[in-house]
Amino acid sequence: MKKIYEGKAKILYVYDNDETKLVTYFKDDATAFNGQKKGTIMQKGEFNNAISASLFKLLKSKGIESHFIEKLSEREMLVHHLKMLPVEFIVRNYTAGSLAKKMGVEEGIKLISPVVEMCFKSDELGDPFINDTYIKAFDLAKPEEVEEAKKIALAVNEILKDFFDKNGLMLVDYKLEFGVLNGKVLLADEITPDTMRLWDKVTLEKVDKDRFRRDLGGVEEAYKRVYDITSSI
Ligand code: 5GP
Repeated sequence: MKKIYEGKAKILYVYDNDETKLVTYFKDDATAFNGQKKGTIMQKGEFNNAISASLFKLLKSKGIESHFIEKLSEREMLVHHLKMLPVEFIVRNYTAGSLAKKMGVEEGIKLISPVVEMCFKSDELGDPFINDTYIKAFDLAKPEEVEEAKKIALAVNEILKDFFDKNGLMLVDYKLEFGVLNGKVLLADEITPDTMRLWDKVTLEKVDKDRFRRDLGGVEEAYKRVYDITSSI
């Protein structure tokens, strides 16, 4: 299969000479702080492929469409080939990470209402914060596509918050990416402990990539816990 992109955690191939579909291959490689910290998380590729597939299925059952078509193997997922928006959408329910730093507050404060942030997807620039006027001024996406993506991002929040809450975890924050297919905005990329912060509801223990970022140990166990929870979907 023709490789069209290799990122930090995934490789994208064109599926069987059919340019309308891609195969996403999930790697065990892990990076943090814009590539400054590098490592491997054993079985991460398998866990993240399965977790993403299950969560895309859960969202579909609640009316949210994504690029996901089917899981092909332990590490491979078949997806629709979208025209990606060069924007990351971050939704937050509690303070953590860069928001806690930016606002000068501790982590774990429950927000009165969810915060939605947008970042320009650029490794060289470190995914800088942008807003609707940047998107319009630099023609990064159509205003109506951005509105639709934000609406979907918040609908995803309700579904995932509820799902993880029922399974003993708090959905602290997450990053989503979107693409366009035949004029429709669809959820894309992945939804995994690489892209979400999940905390144990009782102990507040981190069950996500922050264990790798912050050298907390128990990294594989955290991914396995999310894998076990989502495999019931
Ligand atoms: P923060 O802005 O606090 O670093 O991240 C907020 C949330 O978005 C976290 O759940 C984090 O995992 C996710 N996130 C933000 N940017 C990226 C990114 O470039 N890559 C990945 N994997 N996750 C990101």
